[in-house]
Amino acid sequence: MSIIDSVRKDIISLDFYKAGKQKKSKGKSIKLSSNENLLGTSCLAISAIKKALKNGLNVYPDSKMLELKKELVCFFERNRLTISEKNLVFGDGSGEVIHLLFSLFTTEETTLILPEKSFILYYLQSKSKGAKIVEVERKDFRIDLKEFLNVLENIKGKKIILFANPDNPTSTFIEKEEIEDFLTKIPSDVPVIVDEAYIHFAGMEKSVIPLIKKFSNLIVIQTFSKAFGLASLRVGYGIMNEEIVTQIEKIRLPFNLGKLQQDGAIFALRDKKFLDKTLNFVEKGKKFLKKEFENLGIKYMEPYGNFFFVDFGKDVNDLISFLEDSGITIRHLVDFGYPENFVRITIGLLVHNKILIKRIREFYGRKNQKS
Ligand SMILES: *Cc1c(COP(=O)(O)O)cnc(C)c1O
Repeated sequence: MSIIDSVRKDIISLDFYKAGKQKKSKGKSIKLSSNENLLGTSCLAISAIKKALKNGLNVYPDSKMLELKKELVCFFERNRLTISEKNLVFGDGSGEVIHLLFSLFTTEETTLILPEKSFILYYLQSKSKGAKIVEVERKDFRIDLKEFLNVLENIKGKKIILFANPDNPTSTFIEKEEIEDFLTKIPSDVPVIVDEAYIHFAGMEKSVIPLIKKFSNLIVIQTFSKAFGLASLRVGYGIMNEEIVTQIEKIRLPFNLGKLQQDGAIFALRDKKFLDKTLNFVEKGKKFLKKEFENLGIKYMEPYGNFFFVDFGKDVNDLISFLEDSGITIRHLVDFGYPENFVRITIGLLVHNKILIKRIREFYGRKNQKS
């Protein structure tokens, strides 16, 4: 017998999370594989973290995160969304919030229902809690809520529904009205988790947050990792019915967010200029890349996040290595279960987007010369 024989079987069979890769190259590298903010980080957030660091780290942080919650409520107010501090749960990235939700709702009899070929973290988190998984077929790559209803009917036992909106990796979007209609058809004991990691790029006014008052089983997840440029700080949160918050608070580690995380997030929320700048460069980048992709005959889905879901047709492996050799990394979606020819490309600043297109043109130019 070995110590490994005592490890839970559902964990032994789990795969590791594969992060978007960053290949080392001599020159400057451009990482377009993890949907990070290529503008950088808010200076206000950085200086708040420096200041907190100066004051030392010997004292425990606020376990209730009162100031951060207050600041987030104000941020939502400025965006015409009304929530209360009592609706909030913070996590070490939104990944931890997902972990907490699965810990709360999952038993061996629970089935997670999610769109096929979704964000890999969802599979790892739910499997590690012993959940069964049912994937719902997509329609033209889009999430198909009608098909969710069909699937739901045939599943016995406890259920959890989870999808990202905007979706990762397809960057497609489902409008609020359609989700509202979907929620009216879901039993109120089935949690419906909507991951809005990319909602800032689609427009905050499109968030389903207002529906939480009407549907006590709706849970919305958001993060500081994307639009706020704080992927490395690790701050995410869930917005949900007060009663769910009460239960989660029993299992959340009391000090899961340190002082640096809390202060960084507070000042990022206050930095309207940085967020505006970010949304602006992503919007411009979308327009630029759409035009260039169209010129090159490259197919893509209309993007709502800060990234494109692209069908390169043939020769994707060669193209990916060609880009990597010139320091550009993009995400090959075979990892997500898509066919060979699909990739995900983060929208960069104009300079990044221009280099990307230049390299793609070079690649196609060389290929044509050869043939
Ligand atoms: C990037 C991303 C997140 C963010 O995860 P964090 O743990 O907050 O960094 C969540 N959901 C989706 C679908 C994402 O793509």
